[in-house]
Amino acid sequence: MKATIQKNREAVLIVVKGVVQGVGFRPFVYNLAHGWGIGGRVSNSTQGVVVEAEGSQEAIQGFIQDLRGQAPPLSQVEEIEIYPKRWRSLQGFHIKESLSARKEPTLISPDVATCEECLQDMRNPANRRYRYPFTNCTNCGPRFSIIQGIPYDRPMTTMKAFEMCPQCEAEYSDPANRRFHAQPNACPKCGPWLTLLDRKGGEVPTSDPLQAAIELLRKEHILAIRGLGGFHLACDATKDGPVGRLRERKGREAKPLAVMIPELETVKEVCITNQDEEDILKSPQSPILLLRKSSHPGFKISQLVAPQNRYLGVMLPYTPLHHLLFEGRKLKALVMTSGNPRGEPIIADNREAIKKLGPVADYFLVHNRPIWNKTDDSVAFSMEGSPSLIRRSRGWAPSPIKIPLSVPPILACGGNYKNTFCLAKGERAFLSQHIGELDNLETLRFFREALRRFKAWLNIEPQVVAYDLHPNYLSTRFAQGLPAEVKIGVQHHHAHLASCAAENGWRGKALGVSFDGSGYGPDGTIWGGEFLLFDLKGFQRVAHLSPFPLPGGELSIRRPYRTALGYLLHFLGKEALQLPLKLWQEFKGGEIEIVAKQVEKGVNSPLTSSAGRLFDVCSALLGLCFYNTYEGRAAVELESLAQGGNAEGVYPLQIRENGEKLALEHQGIITGVIEDLLKGEKREKVALRFHRSLVELIIQTCDQLYQRWGEERVFLSGGVFQNRYLLWQTIDGLRKMGLKPFYHHLVSANDGGISLGQAVIAGAKIKQDVPSNSGKD
Ligand code: ZN
Ligand code: ZN
Ligand code: FE
Repeated sequence: MKATIQKNREAVLIVVKGVVQGVGFRPFVYNLAHGWGIGGRVSNSTQGVVVEAEGSQEAIQGFIQDLRGQAPPLSQVEEIEIYPKRWRSLQGFHIKESLSARKEPTLISPDVATCEECLQDMRNPANRRYRYPFTNCTNCGPRFSIIQGIPYDRPMTTMKAFEMCPQCEAEYSDPANRRFHAQPNACPKCGPWLTLLDRKGGEVPTSDPLQAAIELLRKEHILAIRGLGGFHLACDATKDGPVGRLRERKGREAKPLAVMIPELETVKEVCITNQDEEDILKSPQSPILLLRKSSHPGFKISQLVAPQNRYLGVMLPYTPLHHLLFEGRKLKALVMTSGNPRGEPIIADNREAIKKLGPVADYFLVHNRPIWNKTDDSVAFSMEGSPSLIRRSRGWAPSPIKIPLSVPPILACGGNYKNTFCLAKGERAFLSQHIGELDNLETLRFFREALRRFKAWLNIEPQVVAYDLHPNYLSTRFAQGLPAEVKIGVQHHHAHLASCAAENGWRGKALGVSFDGSGYGPDGTIWGGEFLLFDLKGFQRVAHLSPFPLPGGELSIRRPYRTALGYLLHFLGKEALQLPLKLWQEFKGGEIEIVAKQVEKGVNSPLTSSAGRLFDVCSALLGLCFYNTYEGRAAVELESLAQGGNAEGVYPLQIRENGEKLALEHQGIITGVIEDLLKGEKREKVALRFHRSLVELIIQTCDQLYQRWGEERVFLSGGVFQNRYLLWQTIDGLRKMGLKPFYHHLVSANDGGISLGQAVIAGAKIKQDVPSNSGKD
């Protein structure tokens, strides 16, 4: 036997790249090596997992095959490199401490929802982790949120503050144990614990903070609960009292709140789900998933949770603490909304929470496992079987996205709203977690801090900086202040479409439809209803919605009734004021006259081609929503209304040739809306017909553009494509016409995704010698 190995012996060095750290990869390799009778060692390095293996040729081949084929569930093997090495007669197989030579980015695992085995541990009264809210193993638990540095080892996490007890230590060092090298491993004896505090930060005396918290929630109190990536504000979602109070105290008038529901069966009592949606809910990422509300719910979810909305944002418990909050099923559904003061980032620190959330929460359920990287919950909806992300954060960040070209180190600073940044190098793009609204110092501080950390882990020092053309975005100003030599401004909608192309692996020419709120147009108008012929290097604006005025600019974006008036005056003239519309109620103290003057003289009344604003006009005409108290509210409520309607036909559309471009006339649509309203048609019907008309407009335009330019791929991006009705009907219509529509899964269609687009555009542009056709109008 020995002689055979001598004759057939093979010695190799294997580098496994991808998400392979903190996901149980080394123990997997260890067990595999023992199975194949291989000598050698395995270690983490900044390049991935490195294996030195010596054995018979057959054993080595089998071993490599299994490395690919049987990798642990949370790992994502991107590449396995194999190099011959010298035979060194290594005895046995060992797990070595981490190396720290640095060349390539280390991939950090996102946080992972509690696994079934850990749940069983927690539910078993005989188990030492019975009811322990910080139970985890190599297959689940905190990762990104506790990682302070790399390589990923306990001293580089916030768990370094907790010294393992002998039992935990034994699990941690036993390769056959599920908790082998689980960095956050802990138990009630040695790990973090819960404390209940009052709103001033004083400890509430109780032997069981968890039970006490459940009782407080049952008594309709609002609790701030420290979770995995930050605080949630929580209350009983089945009662109007606490939900109303939470809205009032948080100053959040109408924006839907997410709920956590203990299990799938309970979700099905209040929402309609299909198998795909159930799989997404139960996935290790465990996002907030938008589900259709059931028309005959098995129990009541307060109307105040998601008013005027046919969808409910639902998530299942994803940490042991969450599971325990539903212990005994004393609560059926909890509102769980990010714990942040209005406009500011989520709060993760206990002291800051008391200071800033004290006015909102009655009590605080906190723990002492520090959160190093704050992360909000991700939000998704299901489209054709997989999640389409609206907010990409917990569970996804900071996993890389493969891009269809290789780029030098690039930083893309993103947009202003729902900001993320993107660091790219080679064929990988790393998007930050959700940073938030970049219009205050707190968010800017979060942006800078997260960026500093990403740069350090990934070892990316950007040579190129990409930013939005809008001169007043804080992200733009930040970019301008950086020392990098090459800086590239990217048009907003080009970035939207490039992000969609990049995540779909496309780098060539294509058509793109960017239906959006607003973005800076190089011609001095506000864009947002754009059809671009584009590739990653540049674009040509080949069609767009006909522009209309936004009297007062930003003010109209917040007040759709003003946009509606501007629209009517622009297209119908002053006679429009005679129409019997609900709209007029909203104008106070001479506002009509002011708006009329602005439109007439063109003072502070920029033109826009925004699709989002067209939704605002329709929403206001219907008397549905006069104030965008959150971004896109008027459009969101219009979509929900339409989904309750029944309608055929479309309003009159006109696609006009305007030189090289197509002008998309929509007065017929808005006039049709008004006529239907005056006829006394149901609002649901009008809202649906409005949607049908826009879908028809997009499809007809794409058809004409295809005839003219011959590109069959159509990328759909921009915030308006979060409208599921519009998105699906457009996809369906384009496919029926033989075109190839693509849409978002991995990054958001809203401004949370544009950093990816900026990065690939900058990467493509600096590779070019000739100037591109960017910005050509
Ligand atoms: Zn587990
Ligand atoms: Zn322990
Ligand atoms: Fe946008």
